[in-house]
Amino acid sequence: MEKKKEIVMSGIRPTGFLHLGNYFGALRNYVRMQDEFECYFMVADLHSLTTHPDTKELKGHVHRVLAENIACGLDPDKVALYCQSHVYETAELYLYLNMLAYTGELEKTVTFKDKVRQHPENVNAGLLTYPVLQTADIILHRASYVPVGKDQEQHLEMARKFANRFNHRYGDVFPEPHAFNYGGELVKIPSLDGTGKMSKSENQYATLYLADDDDLIRKKVMKAKTDSGPTEPNSVMPDYIENIFQLMRLVSSQEVIDKFTADFNGCTIRYGDMKKQLAEDMVNFIAPIREKAESIRTNEKYLKEIMEKGAEKARKSAKATIELVRNAMGLNYY
Ligand code: ATP
Ligand code: MG
Repeated sequence: MEKKKEIVMSGIRPTGFLHLGNYFGALRNYVRMQDEFECYFMVADLHSLTTHPDTKELKGHVHRVLAENIACGLDPDKVALYCQSHVYETAELYLYLNMLAYTGELEKTVTFKDKVRQHPENVNAGLLTYPVLQTADIILHRASYVPVGKDQEQHLEMARKFANRFNHRYGDVFPEPHAFNYGGELVKIPSLDGTGKMSKSENQYATLYLADDDDLIRKKVMKAKTDSGPTEPNSVMPDYIENIFQLMRLVSSQEVIDKFTADFNGCTIRYGDMKKQLAEDMVNFIAPIREKAESIRTNEKYLKEIMEKGAEKARKSAKATIELVRNAMGLNYY
């Protein structure tokens, strides 16, 4: 008998345009994992309601995320690619898990505290329980691996905690979910202004989107912060210069990286030239994805079929888990 594949789950919020961080933190792993694992990848539309209650643009963003996932190489025949709100079992598991999550620990979550600071006018309960919903998404498929970027590390710790707490209280249903990246370490793609990470809903002018046209990519890269260059050989790199090198390592050839590293160490680096080179390498990386995504995004009939097929696969797995959960909890009266 064929060995059962281990299970993988992850999601992206439909809050805007996908960017380089989503690609290198998440999507690149999804695409590699689809051949080795049983994969569930979702558009996290319910999560987006915690910070984006206005749904005017939601449908367009859902279509965009699906199209960009596929354009990056995800194959809807190999994985379950679905929309979170189509899998109703998520809400049920979320409810049960909410009884196991303490408000004190939720209030300490870094992402929650950040959002409270950024949007004091909308500190809703959904925001507080975001890590609980995320846990429900993951363990609903009894997933062991969760390909995510570094910003999600703490949420995954909480997911493990909630899954273990359920298992201790009601019996073993869930494996421990772990954050995953093929390189080992989780990645954080910095924003071009050096003030945080690239993001769909923040730092927009310092984020490279997979939908940016060539000139916009060039403009954004050329505006990245630099200085007049090192004055001592082999100096320590300032963060914002290290960030440019990090971006270069994602898309440029080894030869190019070696040249600019040597120039930096020898104090002959010209940051204008470095950024021009990086801009061209970025254009070459992003343009084919952008063009492919655009043709998929506008094919609504195809996207509908994908969503239906994805929901069917995801619900099959979800229903099986919910049955185990109800039995374990003693919610079976006949
Ligand atoms: P938003 O600003 O709306 O929260 P986001 O860009 O943070 O959007 P998410 O939908 O929250 O994107 O996250 C989707 C996936 O992309 C997650 O796995 C997350 O860890 C990863 N990710 C997001 N930004 C980065 C980044 N800058 N570097 C690496 N991974 C990232
Ligand atoms: Mg995010």
